[in-house]
Amino acid sequence: MHRKITGRLVIATHNPGKLAEMQELLAPHGVEAVSAGEVGLTEPEETGDSFRANAMIKAVAAANAARLPAFADDSGIVVEALDGAPGIFSARWAGPDKDFGAAMTRIERLLQERGASTPDKRRAHFVSALCVAWPDGHLEEVEARVDGTLVWPPRGTAGFGYDPMFMPDGFARTFGEMTSIEKHGLPPLGLGLSHRARAFVKLAEICLEPR
Ligand code: IMP
Repeated sequence: MHRKITGRLVIATHNPGKLAEMQELLAPHGVEAVSAGEVGLTEPEETGDSFRANAMIKAVAAANAARLPAFADDSGIVVEALDGAPGIFSARWAGPDKDFGAAMTRIERLLQERGASTPDKRRAHFVSALCVAWPDGHLEEVEARVDGTLVWPPRGTAGFGYDPMFMPDGFARTFGEMTSIEKHGLPPLGLGLSHRARAFVKLAEICLEPR
């Protein structure tokens, strides 16, 4: 049985952007999102070997520490010609300075080394895994992806991370060239385009009261 999220929910992130996004998404459903910082949580080490495992590690640690239901996400980009890299190491490829220009250049160099110059050899997808954990051990987990191709050079200055290199299927623009409304395509405007929006729509279907 799926369980509904009601009342307060700890958002297990120390990223203010992610917190604000979640607060906006959850408020219409009557859920009050509080940050991990507000309830004094530290970040656990992400030792899982999948997006799903890492989201669970973060949500369970926060739920146990705060004694409240907690939400966590894990995401990244999976490049098919690179055997799935950078995958769960997407953030780490940018290094401590969060240099995504360097991380994108690294991907491009590896693609060139493998002779991946045509779009069919440059397939990639973003993945978003979401987990809500309750202090009694109940878990709700969803995962979603968006498929596309990698372009070079990167295009656009919107978004973050690998957005300027990723062109979702069915579009002639990269995520870096889209507004956040276009990128996420959330209802009522759309049916969810980005991996995160698609995962959130799935979670809302099972865990949130209709707005
Ligand atoms: P985490 O989910 O915060 O552990 O890190 C995910 C990493 O994957 C980010 O630092 C970005 O590098 C990358 N990533 C995840 N989602 C997106 C996206 O929507 N656009 C661009 N990069 C993303």
